[in-house]
Amino acid sequence: MESAGTEPEPERCPPAQEPPVSPALPAEEPERSEAAPEPQQEAEGVPPPAPVAQGRRPSGPGSKGQAKRCSAGKGGRGKRGSTRRAGEEGGRPARRAHVTVDSSKAKTSLEALKISLRQLRWREFPFGRRLPCDIYWHGVSFHDNDIFSGQVNKFPGMTEMVRKITLSRAVRTMQDLFPEEYNFYPHSWILPEEFPLFVAEVRMMKESDPPWKPTFIVKPDGGCQGDGIYLIKDPSDIRMAGNLQSRPAVVQEYISKPLLIDKLKFDIRLYVLLKSLEPLEIYIAKDGLSRFCTEPYQEPTLKNLHQVFMHLTNYSLNIHSGNFIHSDNANTGSKRTFSSVLYRLSSKGVDIKKLWSDIISLVIKTVIALTPELKVYYQSDIPAGKPGPTCFQILGFDILLMKNLKPVLLEVNANPSMRIEHEQELSPGVFENVPSPVDEEIKVAVIRDTLRLMDPYKKKKKDNHLPDTCMDSKQRFPPISSRLPRSNLQFSKFAIVRSQLSENAADTKDELLEPGSTDQLEHISKNPEASLPSLCLKQVFPKYAKQFNYLRLVDRMAALFIRFLGVKGTMKLGPTGFRTFIRNCKLSNSNFSMASVDILYIDITRRWNSMGLDQRESGMCLQAFVEAFFCLAQRRYKSLPLHEQVASLIDFCEYHLAILDEKRLVCSRGMTERRAELGTCQPDGLHLTAATHAPLLNRMTAANKLTDYRNHRS
Ligand code: ADP
Repeated sequence: MESAGTEPEPERCPPAQEPPVSPALPAEEPERSEAAPEPQQEAEGVPPPAPVAQGRRPSGPGSKGQAKRCSAGKGGRGKRGSTRRAGEEGGRPARRAHVTVDSSKAKTSLEALKISLRQLRWREFPFGRRLPCDIYWHGVSFHDNDIFSGQVNKFPGMTEMVRKITLSRAVRTMQDLFPEEYNFYPHSWILPEEFPLFVAEVRMMKESDPPWKPTFIVKPDGGCQGDGIYLIKDPSDIRMAGNLQSRPAVVQEYISKPLLIDKLKFDIRLYVLLKSLEPLEIYIAKDGLSRFCTEPYQEPTLKNLHQVFMHLTNYSLNIHSGNFIHSDNANTGSKRTFSSVLYRLSSKGVDIKKLWSDIISLVIKTVIALTPELKVYYQSDIPAGKPGPTCFQILGFDILLMKNLKPVLLEVNANPSMRIEHEQELSPGVFENVPSPVDEEIKVAVIRDTLRLMDPYKKKKKDNHLPDTCMDSKQRFPPISSRLPRSNLQFSKFAIVRSQLSENAADTKDELLEPGSTDQLEHISKNPEASLPSLCLKQVFPKYAKQFNYLRLVDRMAALFIRFLGVKGTMKLGPTGFRTFIRNCKLSNSNFSMASVDILYIDITRRWNSMGLDQRESGMCLQAFVEAFFCLAQRRYKSLPLHEQVASLIDFCEYHLAILDEKRLVCSRGMTERRAELGTCQPDGLHLTAATHAPLLNRMTAANKLTDYRNHRS
């Protein structure tokens, strides 16, 4: 996680650390006042003029009331409040309206967001809006506001999911199922509950390998920016360092042989867009940041354990070191672009393609570990059928490279810092915020391209095949000189470094386009996207779904769990729901009575609830359900490895539920079609025809495919 003071992580830090919203000039007039209703024709469908300083848009002729929306642009599932009609008005084709973005809660990401919106020429509402916006940009969490439509850049529950303990638990479950695939996460123990296990395991390992001299890193659960983190050599050191009961933590194997550059330890911050949960869509930014320590690295010894500038890469800590180097050059300094590091490594003969592929695999597997519980949060906050926004989220992945170039996941940030300035000490004790070109280069591109991917009009257009004539390209594209994004020109040297690493020649061509040629002008007027660099976000899922789908077992368990949650809005399964699950999936028999089912439920639920993670509701949480499911799978398929036991049980449950669904479907069809003749319908007595078997067969084929992935994985 990132820094104190200059790069706060608002979700995990105390609210006091969140700096106030930047007092930058708003791009639009406030629209909150009830007394001043929003002018109906105001600027809808009329593009803002060329980007001007601080995004303020001059009002003038042509900005009002000439065009209507081409499409209502419904981004979410809910009803949109805006009732403006799409299509033509008075025989004239309507112009495409601008995407509207509520930035009133953007907090520390406001500056980067403003620049992105100017580049996209979308409409910003810095003080909120009475009418619904297409997109709500939240700096902190999903719950910042009541939103019933459009899209919001946070998922409910994400903050909770990526806390150190929750993330460790989610990855642990995956490690139980697929130990090889999930060995990119250091061995971890959750304190205080696993302290005895930690002591016992370390003792055992030391006994079996006496020369082993491990180091461990202790991280408080709610901590951020390196706060409260310390290194230890022995489990007994933990007790001296604090009160565990009051501050739960994760203790982790310390990676003592990291890859060094210029003798310094560094980590990588990569930005990952979770575009959609169902279906799963993941994008990774092609470039990120590398944060360097400021003291030369030495392997941990009792003497240097406390030297944070040597062991912790947090920007927030290292900025206070006299050795911290601010640099406008992407290749030097204590914070650099990841592409500059890759360039350096490739010049030393490192296989960059392999490294990228390992990183992509780490990201996909981590997201697969997080999604099951996120789905439980999602259905609880936005029950199906109720109005609510659709969600997307930029995540910050912190990754360490080991000396052998293996990437290791340190943590995931739900709220990665999007600040594009840093604090500089002008004279002793006098600080000033100054622009940080490296941050701007990376973060503006990530925000802008996330927005491009979420563009509700583009989606709509794709869905409805709207004709291009919807857009007035002249209005939309001002002269090139005013149109080219500031950061494109300013940071061309970064673009050159990146282009040398780019896998895609087309990307490179786009990034290095020189302004001013007639060809380009023509190209741009035909294609709005031509005014922007190629997307910095690369889709990795579903693109590589075939290689990773076999890992999604917990996701399938979560689908079963959610089905039996019953009343929407809850996150825990009651005893009746659990019994229904067992009955409907035909899991009880003479060897496993319903009384045993109840005992299993009580045992596991009680233990999970005693860990005290979430006391708001009673009942069985998803993690407890997963544990119960593992028990059931082990009982039924004794001789198989755990992931095969679990996969077999999931297939079994899905099969029986599919039969049940078919029976219900046939029953309800029969009821409507032949109500008069039938009288009552007995589902259990129905005979399934070939036609009604079809979905079942599909499911079985899917299960076979799953086995294929398992057999073919490396
Ligand atoms: P925070 O959220 O407080 O920043 P992190 O988990 O990101 O906590 O850890 C802070 C820093 O400690 C990381 O940036 C990294 O430099 C170092 N670190 C964390 N975990 C490990 C580990 N297992 N091995 C080596 N270094 C680590």
